[in-house]
Amino acid sequence: MVGMIFDIQRFCVDDGPGIRTTVFFKGCPLNCLWCHNPESKKSVMEQYSDTGETIGYHASPEEILAVVLKDRDYFAASGGGMTLSGGEPLLQGAFAAELLSLAKTAGLHTCVETCGFVSQEILREILPYTDLFLYDIKAAPDMHLRYTGQESGRILDNLDFLYRQKAPICLRCPIIPGVNDTGEHFSFLSSLQKQYPRILGMELMPYHNMGVGKAKRLGEPEPFYRENPSPDQIRDWREMLS
Ligand code: SF4
Repeated sequence: MVGMIFDIQRFCVDDGPGIRTTVFFKGCPLNCLWCHNPESKKSVMEQYSDTGETIGYHASPEEILAVVLKDRDYFAASGGGMTLSGGEPLLQGAFAAELLSLAKTAGLHTCVETCGFVSQEILREILPYTDLFLYDIKAAPDMHLRYTGQESGRILDNLDFLYRQKAPICLRCPIIPGVNDTGEHFSFLSSLQKQYPRILGMELMPYHNMGVGKAKRLGEPEPFYRENPSPDQIRDWREMLS
């Protein structure tokens, strides 16, 4: 079995506990206006127009695990492990499940970052091999289609499913200036915290515009752009949620 990924990053500290190796899967079912990883969205290999660099390659779960295991001493010392991200890792469900299963057999801590727009069957399949879900909440239901290209119903249903299965979940919430930095959106996030009190945390993910340059290099028309938020703005957002 092989899957398509576009990067493996070692020594990550923002993708779950401890020091982690993050595997970036290619392909995503959403099309977020502000996407910071535009090279992850298509499920096929592509090239940057300026350098000709190819994005995406095939690898087996065993090949990926061999790279991940290089840092197992760092994982053990820091409480880290392997994180699957993307793109949407569960779009390649069988491949992701196999990689997670191998990682657990090797004794690693595993995280899956998901947008939640995936089948419930694959969530059920990976539950025994996933120590933490980093679950994205991008927009309230009335804005979700406009900003991500999909309705939020399946995402919220899957969150409810994982919660009822007692899965460890941390919510990740991108905040985009001029899009979802509104009182209504923060009220929606607060309502989720009340609805799901056992959730392990809610992280605000302030917008950054590093995706713009990559989108231009991919030849995408007029990429979405905002100024990066200031530290004061980010502090205000955190206060709105507390
Ligand atoms: S879910 Fe993530 S990778 Fe997919 S389009 Fe949205 S920001 Fe980009």
